[in-house]
Amino acid sequence: MENQVIKSFCKWCNELLPQNHQGKCPNCDRKGKIVSATFKESITIKDFIKLKHVHEYYKKNIKIKWLVTTITVSSPFIGLWIGGWIGAVVGLIIGLITLLIPPSVTKIRETTMSHN
Ligand SMILES: [Zn+2]
Repeated sequence: MENQVIKSFCKWCNELLPQNHQGKCPNCDRKGKIVSATFKESITIKDFIKLKHVHEYYKKNIKIKWLVTTITVSSPFIGLWIGGWIGAVVGLIIGLITLLIPPSVTKIRETTMSHN
């Protein structure tokens, strides 16, 4: 212990005695010693609380979702209407176009940091 203070006192007259004192009190000539130990501790609390708030949600784009669904569903029928191999190729191309359209669901991540 760094801040430990040990003091010895006479049990009877409260005379401060040397810590290693043995036997009778030089003041009142009686036996008995009280050892007092005091601990001094300083506690420094350094708390840096970081609150991280993450708000994650999915933003649905209804318009794009319907557009992609419409093209995907209709492409084989367009191919069927055109007919033959050309129709199948056209249907495939239309189907591939939907892949170029951005996803209908967008993942949005909001992060806010607050310091205390
Ligand atoms: Zn004494």
